Amino acid sequence: MATWASEAELLEGADDIHNNLAAVSARVAAAAALRSEAPPALIAVSKTKPLGVVAAAARDGHRDFGENYIQELVDKAMRLRELGGPEDLRWHFIGRIQSNKVKLLCSAPQLHAVHTVHDVKLAKLLDRHWGEQRPGEPPLKVMVQVNTSGEESKGGCEPSDAAAIALVCQEACNLELLGLMCIGKYSASEGDASSDFRSLTECRENAAAALDTPTAALALSMGMSHDFETAIEHGATHVRVGSTIFGARAYAASKPATP
Ligand SMILES: *Cc1c(COP(=O)(O)O)cnc(C)c1O
Repeated sequence: MATWASEAELLEGADDIHNNLAAVSARVAAAAALRSEAPPALIAVSKTKPLGVVAAAARDGHRDFGENYIQELVDKAMRLRELGGPEDLRWHFIGRIQSNKVKLLCSAPQLHAVHTVHDVKLAKLLDRHWGEQRPGEPPLKVMVQVNTSGEESKGGCEPSDAAAIALVCQEACNLELLGLMCIGKYSASEGDASSDFRSLTECRENAAAALDTPTAALALSMGMSHDFETAIEHGATHVRVGSTIFGARAYAASKPATP
């Protein structure tokens, strides 16, 4: 325990995290109070940030963290376990997945969910690797990423393909379908993200019908720093917030690289 709290590596960048996390959590709660669904999970996106920011949030009791580079997720997840981090941490992968990195991704300790399944081939690969590499563990939770904006840079499947991919995930022995995910506009200047969130909600209706499951049983992972309150208004069950909690990232324009 002493190691967990005092290792220098775990203190780097830890300033301000407590206040930022409390402020974002309060905003999430306030937005959620205006709707009838349960409050969404707040995923703290720590990409490009040192391990110390994850440790600081974890010491505050936060448990859901998101990364969008596979190697970075694996490194952080492994190192935190080595240093005695919490046993109930949940890592969410929210970035683009190349086939040759699926094995690495499936090796990550405490990998809780993969939000970015964009086609059937990837779903089948995750199913196979999870089954081979993690026998006896619960199925890997997955979401189907939908490209609601039609922009090349954002990844994800066509809205019309989402239900079919969701069905493959649902039927895969080693996967558990959680729901759907999208990336809205990167900033308010690109326009209102409501159309993305509405589009994802429509995809969920279609998927629920195809799967013969209640709509509410499917999650909606949507909303980032600049639009998570709008996403919550539209029914988000998971919001992914990075820079408002951990500070601006060093690279240009704070755009996610290629999710
Ligand atoms: C980086 C990233 C986020 C968080 O972005 P912020 O604007 O820093 O909150 C959310 N979702 C995805 C897919 C990302 O890549």
